[in-house]
Amino acid sequence: MSYELVAGLETHIELSTKTKIFCNCTTEFGGEPNTHCCPICIGLPGTLPKLNKNVVKYAVKAGLATNCSIRNISKMDRKNYVYPDLPKAYQISQFDKPLCENGYISLSTGKNINITRIHIEEDAGKLVHQRGDTYIDYNRGGVPLVEIVTEPDFRSIDEVVEYIEKLRLIMKYIGVSDVKMQEGSLRCDVNISVRKYGDNDLGIRTEIKNMNSLSFIAKAMEYEFNRQIDIIENGGIIEQETRRYNSDLNITESMRKKEDADDYRYFRDPDLVTISIMDEQIQQIKNELPELPSVKLKRFVEDYNLPIQDAELLVKYKKVAEYFEEACIKIENHKVVSNFILSQIFRTLSTETEKEDFNILIPPSYLNELVKLTETKKINSSLARITLEKMLETGKPLSEFITEKHLQGIDENTLKSICEKAVLANEKAVNEYLNGKEKAFGSIIGYIMKETKGNADAALATEIIKTIIS
Ligand code: ADP
Ligand code: MG
Ligand code: ZN
Repeated sequence: MSYELVAGLETHIELSTKTKIFCNCTTEFGGEPNTHCCPICIGLPGTLPKLNKNVVKYAVKAGLATNCSIRNISKMDRKNYVYPDLPKAYQISQFDKPLCENGYISLSTGKNINITRIHIEEDAGKLVHQRGDTYIDYNRGGVPLVEIVTEPDFRSIDEVVEYIEKLRLIMKYIGVSDVKMQEGSLRCDVNISVRKYGDNDLGIRTEIKNMNSLSFIAKAMEYEFNRQIDIIENGGIIEQETRRYNSDLNITESMRKKEDADDYRYFRDPDLVTISIMDEQIQQIKNELPELPSVKLKRFVEDYNLPIQDAELLVKYKKVAEYFEEACIKIENHKVVSNFILSQIFRTLSTETEKEDFNILIPPSYLNELVKLTETKKINSSLARITLEKMLETGKPLSEFITEKHLQGIDENTLKSICEKAVLANEKAVNEYLNGKEKAFGSIIGYIMKETKGNADAALATEIIKTIIS
């Protein structure tokens, strides 16, 4: 019997506003424990929270960028629970009137993953387990979050991974979060169930909490999918429960069952005023949004005539995309620009962070100049490659490396005589080539390149040699 996977995601993203959601403390990651705190964010009695307007603005941006409708009137609610990471014993969140609703993100297959809601809330502190004791660091307490909840629309692990990647990229583009998964500024709860293919009803789900690595999410889902199928195949029933992923053992383990599910006794927070946003303000925020990754991707394929794989790689890093566009000015074959970036320049940037930061020594205008020279056939591709390498190392423009002599190139007669010389000097290679060893030809061309310091047109030289020796 074959089973279908069904999943829905709840994603928490820390917003990169300068200050926290209800006080003026910094949201900066790290720092000495309990130094980014004040009476408000450690929840001392008698303090009053005041909502940071930028948090609302950022969340509206996130909602608009994921095709949500924005509620004109919403409010903050208290979610009551007792745990040391939350000194007030309630988290200020949004319950029945979330700021954003009914959005979606499109996957590359064209399928939409529907977003039920996006609401704002405060992050809790962090428990640090050390030397057999538990310490509390409240620096993270009060950092603003959006929680983005999807419908149970996922049918495979790949869809989940693609959704998270797309979501991350959108949030990064619109500048509301640094979405660093390893620092926990994007964390996912994955709800997962199985059902027989063809069934319309959803199966009973489990929820795997708080994961901040794509590979862990994929592994945890794989494990959980198989665990649930095993139970059903053996005549058991799935218990609705919260589980955690244990990466050491690559398993999911039960944290709590539904019977002891929390009753949060949500009620409106009386300390905070109603949030009201006019349509004009929403429109204003919409106007400020940059071009979104999906739109840019489509434009790169259509306007620059790039293969989709190239366009995807360029768009994946906002700064790279911008660099590419500047380097393309007045160039006809944009694929050449893209090739230089994706192969030669990317080779100098080994990590994802390096590609994201894209701190290379040469401005796009230098690459532009180089590509123009290759387009007008003033220099050949091997000289271009060598020159770019030197430019990348030194940050100097191509005029430092390409002389008048290079630009004049080698006229055909000179090249002919060099080719004749090459044939005489490489008798062995010529014979091998004539006997069917294609590879031997390379050493003849190598000789010519050496003689001309990389200045010869390899294609033309090949043609000349072939007429000489045939
Ligand atoms: P709760 O408020 O108890 O967390 P929700 O109904 O809001 O529950 O759902 C939370 C998440 O679980 C949503 O992303 C939703 O799509 C997903 N979900 C709900 N039912 C199922 C199911 N049967 N299988 C998989 N995911 C589900
Ligand atoms: Mg939940
Ligand atoms: Zn504070």
